Amino acid sequence: MAKKYVYSFGGGKADGNESMKNLLGGKGANLAEMAGHKDLKLPVPPGFTLSTDVCTYYYANKKTYPKELKAQVSSALAQVEKLMGRKFGDPVNPLLVSVRSGARKSMPGMMETVLNVGLTEKTIPGLVKQSGGNERFVYDAYRRLITMYSDVVMEKAAGIEPKDDMGIRKQLERIMDELKKQKGYKGDTDMTTDDLKKLCNAYKAKIKEVLGKEFPDEPEAQMWGGIGAVFASWNGKRAISYRIIENIPHEWGTAVNVQTMVFGNMGNDSATGVAFTRNPGNGDAHFYGEYLINAQGEDVVAGIRTPAPINEESKSGQNSSLTTLQQAMPKIYQELFAIQKRLEKHYRDMQDLEFTIEKGRLFMLQCRIGKRNGPAAVRMAIDMLKEKLITKQEAVLRVTPAQLDELLHPIIDPKTEATNKPVAKGLPAGPGGACGQVVFSAHDAVAWLKAGKKVILVREETNPEDVDGMRAAEAVLTARGGMTSHAALVARGWGKCCIVGCAALHIDMGTKELHVGGITVKEGDWITLNGTKGTVYVGKLPMMDASSENQLLSEFLKICTTVRRLGIRTNAESPADAQKARDFGAEGIGLFRTEHMFYGAGSDEALFILRKMIISKTPEERKKAVDELFPFVKKDIKGTLAAMDGYPVVIRLLDPPLHEFVPQEPSKLEALAQDLHIDMAELQKRAEGLHESNPMMGHRGVRLGITYPEISMMQIRAILESAAELLKEGKKPYPEIMIPVVCDVKELNDQLALAKQVYQEVLAKYGIKSIKHMFGTMIEIPRAAFMADQLATVAQFFSFGTNDMTQMGFGFSRDDIGSFVPEYLKKGILPDDPFQTLDQAGIGQIIKLGIERGRSTNKKLEVGICGEHGGDPRSVEFCHKVGMDYVSCSPFRVPIANLAAAQAALRDVKKPSSKKSKKNK
Ligand code: PEP
Ligand code: MG
Repeated sequence: MAKKYVYSFGGGKADGNESMKNLLGGKGANLAEMAGHKDLKLPVPPGFTLSTDVCTYYYANKKTYPKELKAQVSSALAQVEKLMGRKFGDPVNPLLVSVRSGARKSMPGMMETVLNVGLTEKTIPGLVKQSGGNERFVYDAYRRLITMYSDVVMEKAAGIEPKDDMGIRKQLERIMDELKKQKGYKGDTDMTTDDLKKLCNAYKAKIKEVLGKEFPDEPEAQMWGGIGAVFASWNGKRAISYRIIENIPHEWGTAVNVQTMVFGNMGNDSATGVAFTRNPGNGDAHFYGEYLINAQGEDVVAGIRTPAPINEESKSGQNSSLTTLQQAMPKIYQELFAIQKRLEKHYRDMQDLEFTIEKGRLFMLQCRIGKRNGPAAVRMAIDMLKEKLITKQEAVLRVTPAQLDELLHPIIDPKTEATNKPVAKGLPAGPGGACGQVVFSAHDAVAWLKAGKKVILVREETNPEDVDGMRAAEAVLTARGGMTSHAALVARGWGKCCIVGCAALHIDMGTKELHVGGITVKEGDWITLNGTKGTVYVGKLPMMDASSENQLLSEFLKICTTVRRLGIRTNAESPADAQKARDFGAEGIGLFRTEHMFYGAGSDEALFILRKMIISKTPEERKKAVDELFPFVKKDIKGTLAAMDGYPVVIRLLDPPLHEFVPQEPSKLEALAQDLHIDMAELQKRAEGLHESNPMMGHRGVRLGITYPEISMMQIRAILESAAELLKEGKKPYPEIMIPVVCDVKELNDQLALAKQVYQEVLAKYGIKSIKHMFGTMIEIPRAAFMADQLATVAQFFSFGTNDMTQMGFGFSRDDIGSFVPEYLKKGILPDDPFQTLDQAGIGQIIKLGIERGRSTNKKLEVGICGEHGGDPRSVEFCHKVGMDYVSCSPFRVPIANLAAAQAALRDVKKPSSKKSKKNK
């Protein structure tokens, strides 16, 4: 039997169904389902689909069709003619068709469509009769066909590049504009039948003149021209770029749908509209949509007339005075209402529908899963679960991490944002939107906030001394830095909007001006940031709070928690952040960065002592400073352990290169010299002595503990004493002591010996038998992963520090990628910023090997991740797959990680969710 290339639908029957999207495209499959499924059999204008196989054949065979195609199309067309009682090309009762594209995945506006195919000088009288003598309507349809056909088929599909952007469509529109001007008409509707007739003739002459060919006034030629143009448009520039952005494979190809034309513009008993089975803007379970009387689909899209609401629930400010469809055509509305109910029940999801009413008769032209925003996605998932329309697992899969993110931060009002052009783009380091007045220093940010102003801190890059200003600002914008740079880490930790590495910014600190794309922004001028996309706008755009659905959000997150296998922890350093993360459902802390207690408000005293410790020369000096520092360190640790009572808290010993803390300001340097009883020259000498060429690979992490054991011992003592005191208070502290930047087991042994000594001392001091705790290491140097079998004989847990692992694995400085990574992404050398989304092919393999080697010598080894990737959905899925026990991320990303972990478990069919995260309750 010959291969089947053409699939018919209509008249209560269909050759295909919804499951055949790969072959029929999304549109074709859904048309078949609506027309032919036994529970639906909806009024779909009959037609047929040329499968994606035809497209594949077309491109594999020098743009020709399989030999069987012609006969299959003829017989499918004959079937449509029979159902409609009309004939294609018949002068008395002609059938007209539309020719539309339809890929597997919707590619809105990227491919071509030709409407009113089959309308010719010969068939015009027949259509006039069908329309009840409406000659004007018919010539308007003819005008539209000539315009569309010459543009899509005769110019674009033929590969003709118009000169000076004056394509044939523009040239034809110009003729119409001239006619309207001559006659003094305001709109298209003022044109008379005679005008339209003249226009059609003028169009045809122009086409001949410009393209050197006649407009084909012959139905078969029009149909095949349309089909060819759709296939050709699959490889049009627009479509190719869209596929690259959306990751749609080029070999998929498109299907072509040829379908009976129905007209919403045949008079006041005709209409066309778009509707959703639930409100896509907020998720309300009400039928929602818009329609236009006496109009075609393109009029709705063109935005010339304001569409009216279909019912009361669809009314908004601007359309509330217009007549609803329910009022204008109550019977049709009822029919449509019943159909949408059936469709939603059938597809078990919100549907986006297109309908046309032709002379009082309803037709369904399209249905597909409706797009929705974050709040709507969560509401619909919960509601549909309660309505028993979907299962718990489906509810979890219905919300994307990006949609969930929308609920957690204020956003720029999407409608306004769509009409504004960004002036620059950087890396989206902290999500959400923010607007404020520009300031250029942390000091000004704090001062302006005190004066009641909302500010955005704009810096070349930030450093720990800017922290107060960052806290005071609505958002932070930097010209340099990557996704794990200081600004990005800190802002994300606070859930603050932040854009980094925005290379187009030229900051002039002298004049306090910002130059970008020829625009000058002065101190105090308003700017608006979209931290989710990384876009910068000049001016004050309105904000919207998307988090009002919190009740639903927590319901939804609870469901996610029951589905996932991975534990979710947070990176937090203060009791307040720990509490926030607990509220979001974190089950412990995966990274407490000790050094953070020396940043920001209230840290002055501790920072001063830390600086003394750093600048000390003799062991005595250092010991004194270390002892002074001890109560500060202990206070923060104890507070955090208490806030996370019952849950594990991974506390990392001091990690960054010490010179980061050496002050820049002369007054601070003087105070330090005074306290240490040394002169400024000596202080300068000592500070210079700390200078390193490659600080990130210098004297940091465990290397500090090896050279200055007293620093490690002080921290371990602070941890264990805090735990001992909490135990005495009846609490259940569970510290995990973590050693950073380790590359060899001997380093760990060295630090473990110190820990053991301190542990005994603390037990003795408090008179207790044991303190539940663990001793473990970060794995962030590639060598550590290779040596993991040895490390795991000493470490009870591993935490993958993927920020440094990415830095050292790629050899990319995490603070300096802004100058080249954007180009790598543009050229497709890297698929993603590896500091944002884990590089599974390379760094991921190092992690996998590290876990396998570690578990080969220590079956009970606990494994987590605490790099920024712990809050990135795709990276979380990877962590699930390689068998980690938990992921850890900043408090505001805990809900995202929760959802991503739940979705990973559901997609992982081999290993259904079983083991729950470890808790110490
Ligand atoms: C890491 O390297 O992944 C990590 C969590 O540590 P930090 O970002 O503090 O270097
Ligand atoms: Mg690190």
